Amino acid sequence: MKIAAIRTHVLRHELPEAERFQSSFSTFRERWACLVEVECAGGVTGWGECLGPALPNAAIVEAMAGRIIGRDAWDIEPIWLDLYNEFRDQGQRGLTMTALSGVDIALWDAAGKDLGAPVWRLLGGAHRMKVPAYATGGFRPVGRDRIEPTVREVTGYVSEGFRAAKIKIGYGAAEDARAIRALREAVGPEIALMVDANHGYDAVEAVALGRAVADLDIGWFEEPVTPEHLRAYAEVRARQPVPVAGGETWHGRAAFAAALEAGAVDILQPDVCGCGGITEMRKIFAMAETAGVRVVPHVWGTGVAVAAALQMLATLPPSPPRHEPRPPLLEFDRTPNPFRMAVLAAPIEHEAGEVAVPEGPGLGFEIDRATLERFSARR
Ligand SMILES: [Mg+2]
Repeated sequence: MKIAAIRTHVLRHELPEAERFQSSFSTFRERWACLVEVECAGGVTGWGECLGPALPNAAIVEAMAGRIIGRDAWDIEPIWLDLYNEFRDQGQRGLTMTALSGVDIALWDAAGKDLGAPVWRLLGGAHRMKVPAYATGGFRPVGRDRIEPTVREVTGYVSEGFRAAKIKIGYGAAEDARAIRALREAVGPEIALMVDANHGYDAVEAVALGRAVADLDIGWFEEPVTPEHLRAYAEVRARQPVPVAGGETWHGRAAFAAALEAGAVDILQPDVCGCGGITEMRKIFAMAETAGVRVVPHVWGTGVAVAAALQMLATLPPSPPRHEPRPPLLEFDRTPNPFRMAVLAAPIEHEAGEVAVPEGPGLGFEIDRATLERFSARR
């Protein structure tokens, strides 16, 4: 199955002012995505997605394309190693890895379609066909107080059927603690709540925040500090009671090995569209299982990214295996994005807070080319 062409699709949508939102350090005025299309001789097409800035990702994918056009699309591991090695000296982390992730996911999708089997079957079979999802939202609206809108937003997810939600913090520890307390009071004790600082704190602030919400049963404290500072991660873990999570900005096995070695997290969060694709993510799963560290993948992207994450979630081993194993969680972004699920011919939806693993070949979806055209940044 020779690779005939590689194309990138860069999508862009400007959010109306009322829908703009902020994490601890960035302001979302637009939504972007970079999808990767690998066309094979014989008519099979695979799709992937790159985490992060869409235009630079697309440029790197295009730079990689020349090395793999004409090769057998089934050579997934050799192609991964060839691309990684070619860009390694300047590209062990960051955009090279996010670009490589998109290419790799597209190759797995093509392989599955060629065989008529879902990717989870190619990976050795599924441990589960349904995954509970948690709603990601609770960002700060631009220029407005956030506590009341966050409470309203998250109670909305609960009434939709979600049993778990994650909100953003990292704006300031005292106000963050007030927001978390107001939210816990609003949703009651049964809903799982997680918080994500997007590395908006230093270790001193993160420890203070974790202690301030110690009585609120917070599921995890995501990216408390900047991702380079593994010692600070370990310090936050040691000095406050909320489980520490991180991994969306770590790319490649070596970065995850360093985080595991440092005892940085209780919960590892690789993103299949960033960590190096399906090929690398399954190795990271094996490392986490060996280290006895829980995995909850990070997901931030279109339905292509969600479908790829579901393939991985199907194959994530229950750890530990037992009669009623603790299921992993799917991160389900609820922030404004008109093309998130519109890129798929059939959107991936939750039902009472659970999402089914796709059973179709490859990643299990058909792309909606009209949506790619409509939101194309290059029109
Ligand atoms: Mg995060």
